[in-house]
Amino acid sequence: MKIIRSIKKLRAFISNVDNLGFVPTMGYIHKGHLSLVKKSIKKCNKTLVSIYVNPTQFNSKIDFINYPRNLNKDLKILKKNKVDFVFIPKTSEIYKKRNSNKLKVHRNKKILCGKYRKGHFEGVINILNRLLKIINPDFMFLGEKDFQQLFLIKNYVKKKFKVKIIGCKTIRNKNYVALSSRNNLLSKKDLIIASLISKKLMLFKKKVNRNYIYQKNINILKANLIKNYHVSLDYLELRNEKDLTIFKKKNKFRLFVAYYINKVRLIDNF
Ligand code: AMP
Repeated sequence: MKIIRSIKKLRAFISNVDNLGFVPTMGYIHKGHLSLVKKSIKKCNKTLVSIYVNPTQFNSKIDFINYPRNLNKDLKILKKNKVDFVFIPKTSEIYKKRNSNKLKVHRNKKILCGKYRKGHFEGVINILNRLLKIINPDFMFLGEKDFQQLFLIKNYVKKKFKVKIIGCKTIRNKNYVALSSRNNLLSKKDLIIASLISKKLMLFKKKVNRNYIYQKNINILKANLIKNYHVSLDYLELRNEKDLTIFKKKNKFRLFVAYYINKVRLIDNF
């Protein structure tokens, strides 16, 4: 496994690779990330994982500082999982050049996390634009855990890059909590709460699928989560899977949630 820290070296290593798979991450690697890596290894000749905690997508400095990091452990895990290249960009190099054009993010950036984390998706698209220009992969693997991100990136890259995006299912622990680097910031008790919330939301989705009157009941559910688990909610919304518009009837939908347990922000969708 080649560990690469400069753009020049990266180009030297990958310029002749055809069918390159790319898995962008912020590190603190877990089995959710590894599911993307495995898909890439299966589909592509070579797999490149990037590890970079991107400052421009954090709307809170404390959140950026507290984001879990453990590079040595990550490298061990990725090596064991037969990754070919790991790219660890430096901020001074990756953000050296200004963007030549204004980055246009889809109008749906203003809902869900885009509404509650100002500038977040602009930061995500900014770093992705830079990484894709340097790496120029054939495939990129992204998790459905961050469904809105997947949606916005798909829309963004289709006009600009040749890369094909592969969306990958959310990996959960045995108690139905979506794996996330941020889970490391939770206490055991908080993880139990996250598990109870996941179960409740899964059940709610099942009920909606069986013609449950969700409009009134979603408000009851919100109040219930706040009262019983002392979490604060950014949003709990049903939206159509295809275009993230508000769910009405019949279309394939997802239940999107973002909430805080003790200042740790968790997102998920079911
Ligand atoms: P992150 O390091 O959190 O930026 O995530 C890097 C990539 O892994 C993103 O495409 C995420 O959507 C994906 N990912 C994170 N957690 C999971 C999970 N539990 N299951 C599947 N994919 C995930």
